[in-house]
Amino acid sequence: VLENAAKFPSTILELMDGFRASKALFVASKLKVFDRLKDKGSLNAGDVANEVGSSLCGTERLLDACAALGLLEKTPQGYSNTDSANTYLTSDGKYSLHGYVIHSNDHLWPLFTNLESAVKEGTRQNHRAFGKKTEDLFKDYYRSQEVKQHFMAAMHSIAHLTARDVATAFDLSQFKSACDLGGCTGALAHELVQIYPNLKVTVFDLPEVIANTSYFQPSGQCTAPVTFVSGDFFKDNLPEVDLYILSRVLHDWPDEKIHMLLSKISAVCKPGSALLVAETVLDEQKTHPPRAVLQSLSMTEGKQRSGSEYKQLLEKYGFMNVQIKITGNLLDAVLCFRKSQST
Ligand code: SAM
Repeated sequence: VLENAAKFPSTILELMDGFRASKALFVASKLKVFDRLKDKGSLNAGDVANEVGSSLCGTERLLDACAALGLLEKTPQGYSNTDSANTYLTSDGKYSLHGYVIHSNDHLWPLFTNLESAVKEGTRQNHRAFGKKTEDLFKDYYRSQEVKQHFMAAMHSIAHLTARDVATAFDLSQFKSACDLGGCTGALAHELVQIYPNLKVTVFDLPEVIANTSYFQPSGQCTAPVTFVSGDFFKDNLPEVDLYILSRVLHDWPDEKIHMLLSKISAVCKPGSALLVAETVLDEQKTHPPRAVLQSLSMTEGKQRSGSEYKQLLEKYGFMNVQIKITGNLLDAVLCFRKSQST
């Protein structure tokens, strides 16, 4: 009998098994099981095994695991996608997380396999996970077209899920022009122009990314208010606009790079113009939300910050009236205004 003090350790057991569940999701996604089951009604394990070209007993176990995890439904007729799998796990859905799942399997999993070394050495474990050191995370991703496509799809999926909450966290209707620095596929930009029809948005990202954006554009929509500009935000001139946006950019970089970037934005930003930062804002104790805290374990040179840390950082570069909106979604929003040189 367990003593009162020692409750049944369900959280610990769940954590111990968590890696198996993640990997089952990753492998089912890699094999495109959710694509095969889409619009098919129910299929039995043999049909799925034939379609994905894998063993019957392995496929059956994988499908049962997915059913146990609530990703598939299992009936006497066979296996079918849950609504959630249809929406988020098929590779071509509007809100597909497929790219992020594949990125998690191919890049984050090998890094986290080396977490013990990462903690001991305090550094990202690219050399152990992939056999090479990385100077610039992104340029590394963009060397291979396939990895780039998965990374961009991963960014796109999260941006899509969060764009509306980020775009509406504050009333941005006073701004006529915006530049989403590191705006990747333009998912947030497209949401912004839908919500603020008078806003023109420029997406500024590395040439390798801009060259690959057409695949991600909403079909059948007039995309004129969104323009794409290629450049390096550490080296090149930034477009002059009323509103600069940094979504999931600051947490990736070490202090000296942040210094370069925020100094440049601050210099080009006219008094009264603003900067919108979209990040997961940590609580002041820096233990919540867990997803952001765990993301830090990838040991990029950057870090996640609390609300007061963002305020302090932005004020250091001449921004004032820093407002923070916790959205309840994956990304929160921080808005601040460039003060005039004299204030
Ligand atoms: N803003 C997007 C979002 O929230 O989904 C993408 C975030 S992603 C973590 C960081 C983005 O910054 C990538 O699209 C990357 O290509 C871009 N980036 C990285 N280094 C850059 C640089 N030196 N100049 C311009 N963009 C850069």
